[in-house]
Amino acid sequence: MNLYSHPTFDMACQQFDLVADRLAISADDRARLKFPKRSMSVSVPVKMDDGHTQVFAGYRVQHHLTLGPTKGGLRYHPDVTIGEVAALAMWMSWKCALTGLPYGGAKGGVTCDPRKMSMGELERLTRRYTQEMIPFIGPQIDIMAPDVGTNEQTMAWMMDTYSMHAGYTVPSIVTGKPVSLGGSLGRRESTGRGVAYLINRAMDTLGLEASRCTAVVQGFGNVGAVAAHSLARFGVKVIAVGDASGAVMNRRGLDLQRLDAHVRETGQIISFEEGEAVPVETLLETPCDILVPAALERQITSANAGKIQCRIIGEGANGPTTPEADEILTQRKDIFVIPDILCNAGGVVVSYFEWVQDLQSFFWSESEVMDKLFRILEGSFNQTLNLAKKDGISMRLAALTLGIRRLQEAKKIRGLFP
Ligand code: NAD
Repeated sequence: MNLYSHPTFDMACQQFDLVADRLAISADDRARLKFPKRSMSVSVPVKMDDGHTQVFAGYRVQHHLTLGPTKGGLRYHPDVTIGEVAALAMWMSWKCALTGLPYGGAKGGVTCDPRKMSMGELERLTRRYTQEMIPFIGPQIDIMAPDVGTNEQTMAWMMDTYSMHAGYTVPSIVTGKPVSLGGSLGRRESTGRGVAYLINRAMDTLGLEASRCTAVVQGFGNVGAVAAHSLARFGVKVIAVGDASGAVMNRRGLDLQRLDAHVRETGQIISFEEGEAVPVETLLETPCDILVPAALERQITSANAGKIQCRIIGEGANGPTTPEADEILTQRKDIFVIPDILCNAGGVVVSYFEWVQDLQSFFWSESEVMDKLFRILEGSFNQTLNLAKKDGISMRLAALTLGIRRLQEAKKIRGLFP
């Protein structure tokens, strides 16, 4: 399908086809399972601070509607295209099915550079994008959440815009919003904490001791920073961290509190004085025990997969590993991969909890949220590991198989309307 033509969409399709071949899914069912149910493309005119009007391209892709409303993040990034958004929506579908959530996958995006926009411009962009999307979203239709370049404030503006339109307050229209507006305790930290929890499970599986392990983290935003802190809390030494500006390393271990303060002050990692600068291109090849790609897609490729020197890859980002790199990693028996749809599922699981709390207007303590989250992650990890061992396949293939199979069964039981 040309509409979605993009290397990331091709990659998601390749992954799907591998599983469809294994499960001997018929050609008719493949097309139904693979291609997005609905895609929206909108022009978003925004009055910029200098007085001119700029029109941004905005998208929302709802991958399938079989199990409930769709759910997925909203990304602000200069490289956003409908193909990338469609791939991310597809991965959300498998992730929700793997973890047993009553959702289909979705994703949204606006092609913009949020780092070059003022708060006022971002607010106007967000409100107008939400306004354009109102016919397609709703607490029982499609629920957004933060992703790269968006945050709690973005969700607050979306919730306010939707509520002004409805005429009453609708907290359940978005998740990942501030706790003061009906957000869930623990949502902000959920993805990164989930990543660290599963890495800890993988360390147990491999017989590694956290206090003897080192970690390298690519991306120091919501997912990467929280994952780094959580790993450090388990006793892991975080020796190198990178973001879009560059990367720093300190073999004795980076002081993450000071790095946080530096990033808050300067907006970037580069120039952090308590670490030496390292080239971003080779960050992922730094010798370590745990590697956490937590930035963007297609970072581990056929060019660097053979050079990676770690025991565990915990995929915080969505789609950080290309299928070609995946083949190399699968052949390398020295690396245990926790695939994205499992590893970063903590975010959507707590988003689900937030939605449930909003719908009931009944809120849970942080420990209740975390306890329920870890139980779901534990179950999904065990199911994935068991299938991988039983069938002699990679953790990624096992996780995708579980997710796709669940959806295939649901579609079969519902039948084809009319
Ligand atoms: P974010 O915007 O908070 O942070 C992104 C980080 O990546 C920033 O530190 C940025 O500087 C860095 N980055 C961007 N381009 C880079 C590059 N070329 N090289 C190195 N670093 C780069 O985003 P986030 O919410 O932390 O999301 C990160 C990843 O995790 C994305 O793949 C996202 O889809 C995925 N994810 C996020 C959530 C969530 O709850 N936020 C949930 C599941 C998955």
